[in-house]
Amino acid sequence: MNSILKDPSLWREAALIDGEWIAATPHGTTELRNPANGDLLATLPRCKEEETTNAVLAADRAFRKWRTTTAKHRSQVLYRWWQLIVENKNDLATLITLEEGKPIAEARGEIDYAAGFIQWFAEEAKRIRGDVIPSSKDTQRIVTLKQAIGVCAAITPWNFPAAMIARKAGPALAAGCTMVVKPASQTPLTALALGELALRAGIPAGVFNVVTGNDTRAIGGVLTSHPLVRKITFTGSTEVGRLLLQQSASTIKKCSMELGGNAPCIVFDDASIDLAVEGILVAKFRNTGQSCIAANRVMVQDGIYDALAERLANRVSKLLVGNGLDDGVQIGPLIDSAAVGKVAEHVSSAVNAGARVLTGGQHHSMGGCFFQPTVIVDVTPDMTIAVEETFGPVLPLIRFKTDDEAIAMANDTEFGLAAYLFSKDAVRIWRTSEALETGMVGINTGLISTEVAPFGGVKQSGLGREGSQYGIDEFLEIKYLCWDGLSND
Ligand code: NAP
Repeated sequence: MNSILKDPSLWREAALIDGEWIAATPHGTTELRNPANGDLLATLPRCKEEETTNAVLAADRAFRKWRTTTAKHRSQVLYRWWQLIVENKNDLATLITLEEGKPIAEARGEIDYAAGFIQWFAEEAKRIRGDVIPSSKDTQRIVTLKQAIGVCAAITPWNFPAAMIARKAGPALAAGCTMVVKPASQTPLTALALGELALRAGIPAGVFNVVTGNDTRAIGGVLTSHPLVRKITFTGSTEVGRLLLQQSASTIKKCSMELGGNAPCIVFDDASIDLAVEGILVAKFRNTGQSCIAANRVMVQDGIYDALAERLANRVSKLLVGNGLDDGVQIGPLIDSAAVGKVAEHVSSAVNAGARVLTGGQHHSMGGCFFQPTVIVDVTPDMTIAVEETFGPVLPLIRFKTDDEAIAMANDTEFGLAAYLFSKDAVRIWRTSEALETGMVGINTGLISTEVAPFGGVKQSGLGREGSQYGIDEFLEIKYLCWDGLSND
């Protein structure tokens, strides 16, 4: 299977611990299958407590040296990693499409996005600064240092197999931390290829480790309880985030959580319909709807509801569904049959409660993990499809009359990750943006992710921010030096 890559040595079926490829463990293997056709892609060694502990110990040994390297050195090494990721973009994108299913053009876009975090934090490494604070005593000086927190454990989801790792490893390594990555068991190949490129870039053994297999609880148990792990950085569902926070409480780890969303998208009467259509399509159907910031509930004001619904249904009915490696495909398979079952259930329960399907609504004729791109109208806020994250190619449209009604509906959820709004009225845009209880607001756009801006949620969508000048703070501790005994004589 590795012959599909230009550089077959990026295909690794082994865990990466302390710079060594561990091809077998005593616990057997986990099979990895392509969601587009069910084909066996790879078999990965199963790591359990022992291997995860070894990775933590290796990361701790490596930390003792890595933390003392100069910021300039770490910056240069990260730059080399960034360059190698960019040079190997097509192979990395192929791995993403094979294991995750997204169309290859989107997978290449994900590599650009992921590489952007490594480049950004290569730059930020050199900008970690403390302060000199005026003291209230003339014999005293007060200074702060920012220091790497230590060994970090990254637990990442399958939906962005490269970007979710880069968003964490970039700032962690720039700060001087080391890392044990537990990628989703459905998408380890991309993580392992990033590990191979990290070694080639000169990132020392033990600084970036990857554990494999589907013994998720065993691996997670070690990562959240081992005293040498000082930080958990997690992206995934709110349910698992809550569990990891509980488990991390026993050793009081610093935790960052990028969790689930239920993004509202509000389209006001005065919006540009063209911008709204393009924005909604990208916000909803990117990665076949499997994005934490996917527009999960699109609320459209009464005056343009029918016209917008028709335009969207027309465009959605033309989206090309297929194997993500095939030319021109816009919608790939969902990650697994459980995901398809959830999407089908959300659609049927909405229809049973009075919603109408304008296009799609069924399993796709390709079978397996494919579902038709769908638009549903007459959705109401109490329907499951508007309350839970659907994580699939289904666009539900809710009607509203007043601005206050839309804002109240948007905020009526425990989630608070992203929101979108479409309008040309500056007063309305400010008022609505300030009232929305989310960490991010897209205004007249459906594409908000970039390494230069702080990504993260409020409420039960998360703790902390990734990317931007704030992202590196999550991997640093502030130490304050109170220096007395200075005489003015
Ligand atoms: P998930 O089920 O929460 O899994 C995420 C990661 O956690 C995977 O590596 C998974 O491992 C691991 N995990 C699950 N149970 C665990 C446990 N008991 N102990 C330790 N690790 C455990 O989420 P997902 O289905 O992969 O991803 C979809 C979710 O992620 C959605 O809710 C989405 O909104 C969210 N997400 C959020 C962001 C953000 O930035 N806020 C970005 C992307 C996705 P296994 O794969 O081995 O089960």
